[in-house]
Amino acid sequence: MSEKIYEIGFMGRIRIDAHSLNNEGTVGNVTEPRTIILADGQKTDGISGEMLKHIHAEALWQLVKEKTPNNLCPACHILSPMKADVNPKIAEINKKIKNLANQRKNAEERNKKEEITKQISQEINNAVNEALQCTICDLHGFLIQEPTLSRKSTVEFGWAIAIPDKYFREIHVHTRVAVAEKVKEGGEEARVSEQMIYNRPTRSGVYAFVSVFQPWRIGLNEVNYTYSISDIARKTRYDLTLEAYKAMMTRLEGAMTTTRLPHFGDFTGIIVKATSAFPVPVISPLKDDYAQQIETIVKPENIHKFDSLTSLLQAIDKLKNASPYKLGAH
Ligand SMILES: [Zn+2]
Repeated sequence: MSEKIYEIGFMGRIRIDAHSLNNEGTVGNVTEPRTIILADGQKTDGISGEMLKHIHAEALWQLVKEKTPNNLCPACHILSPMKADVNPKIAEINKKIKNLANQRKNAEERNKKEEITKQISQEINNAVNEALQCTICDLHGFLIQEPTLSRKSTVEFGWAIAIPDKYFREIHVHTRVAVAEKVKEGGEEARVSEQMIYNRPTRSGVYAFVSVFQPWRIGLNEVNYTYSISDIARKTRYDLTLEAYKAMMTRLEGAMTTTRLPHFGDFTGIIVKATSAFPVPVISPLKDDYAQQIETIVKPENIHKFDSLTSLLQAIDKLKNASPYKLGAH
């Protein structure tokens, strides 16, 4: 029997030079980089968890499209998971729920009302089971407005935060020559070009990152706490999620990569796994001794340390020898 994985924690430091992966926004012609203020008031550079989660979702989506394309809801087929209620099967269930709610309003006997309430909860359960058939909705969570259902993602990302004394920022001024308009000059048409000036941030830093993956929740209907998909399907989703981690770590996509493709440097860290129902510790790699602290709490066989992209990818591959933990099966 293969090992069962309850949770996996990823903690590490990555050096990224000359990037602009994530920005606050652009005001006029100035783009502002993301800033984080730490508990001691220090300001530092950051890449948001939203962006990192999106990068993972996109990598996962490509893998699912390639390997199990039938397991995507209509919204996730076009990578728009926030619109999970466009799923016609869920819309159908929602119609039933509305009908039942009307019947309940008109029912006079108490017994009848109670029976309808039971039917409504059964339909809500059916809607969750239906939503969980989609790999992305299951793994990355969803928000359905009608009936109101939400699911928390099985993968979580914190901000990647630059170690305060290990980052630099510059604002570079660029000019772009734009052809403005054609004008008549002495009867001749001439092109007039205009210089556009814009400011773009470029950052370099060593970033601390944290992420947690919860394999025990893969396919888990959190209304009635039963699994909506088979053990084989859960294992496939587990492997795909790990593959998506590999894809994102191999190359972080983000903003402005057309002209600021990041230069990735040293990559070090620790992967922790939990094989029984107990959370993995997450200690911020902002602290220099985070790995030593983890080593004092976690058994050595549940730790994979890495000191390069290669050893990180190998460590993730080793995790694929295991299967996702199943509640109640132990
Ligand atoms: Zn979906």
